[in-house]
Amino acid sequence: MSKPDRAAAVLDMGGTEDDWKIRVTDLKQYAFCPRVVYYMYCLPNLRPTTYKMEAGIAAQERVTELEERRSLHAYGLQEGERRYYVPVYSVTLGCVGQVDMVIETHEGGERRLVPVDFKLSRREPGRHFQLQLACYGMMLEEMYELPVPEGFLYFIPARRAEKIALTKRLRRDARAYVEAIRAMLQTQRMPPPTPRRARCVNCEYRRFCNDVL
Ligand code: SF4
Repeated sequence: MSKPDRAAAVLDMGGTEDDWKIRVTDLKQYAFCPRVVYYMYCLPNLRPTTYKMEAGIAAQERVTELEERRSLHAYGLQEGERRYYVPVYSVTLGCVGQVDMVIETHEGGERRLVPVDFKLSRREPGRHFQLQLACYGMMLEEMYELPVPEGFLYFIPARRAEKIALTKRLRRDARAYVEAIRAMLQTQRMPPPTPRRARCVNCEYRRFCNDVL
C-alpha cells in the first residue's frame, strides 16, 4: 500500500478538528437512530461501555488471529497482502476511520484494494453496514489512488464473507449520510427519535430519551 499522506499533510497544514469530525462508524449508528449520533457527539461523556462493546473488541481480536492462518478463498482471491486496522481519512468527505482489514491484490492484472469489515451480527448485511463499507472504499481510493470496486462484510459468528459491490448509488448514499450527520452536528439540534421503537428497548441511551417509551 504505501502512499498516504495527502490527508496527513493537510492536517499538518492546519486542518481543523471540524474538518475531521465525522467517524465512519457514525454512519451505521445514524442509520440505526440519528439521535444516537447526536448523543455521542453532543454528550460525549455519557456513553457507557457495554458488555456488547467489550465482546465485540474481543471477537475482533480473535478473528484477526484466525485470519492469519486462513487463505483468501473467502474473498474470492488467490493472492493478496493483508493489513489490519488500517487508519483512513478523507479530505473530500471530512471523515476518519479505521478499516478492520485491507487486502491489496494484483489478481486479474489490476492492482486494487479490498476493505473487509468484521461484524458480530448474525443477520444479513443491513444497509448501514454497506454504507460504512462504501465510505471506507472511497477513503482508501483517495488515500492510495487505487481502485476499490468492492469490499466484504465478514460475519464472525457465521464465519461468512459477503461481497458488497461499491456502486455509484451506494457511494452517493454514503456521502448523503455524512452530510446529514455534519448538518445535525453543526446545528446541535436533537433529531426526532427513530420511528422503529423496538430499537429503543436495548438502546444504551434509552434513559435520556424520555419521549420514546
Ligand atoms: S432510545 Fe430510541 S430514540 Fe433514543 S437514542 Fe435510543 S434508539 Fe434512538
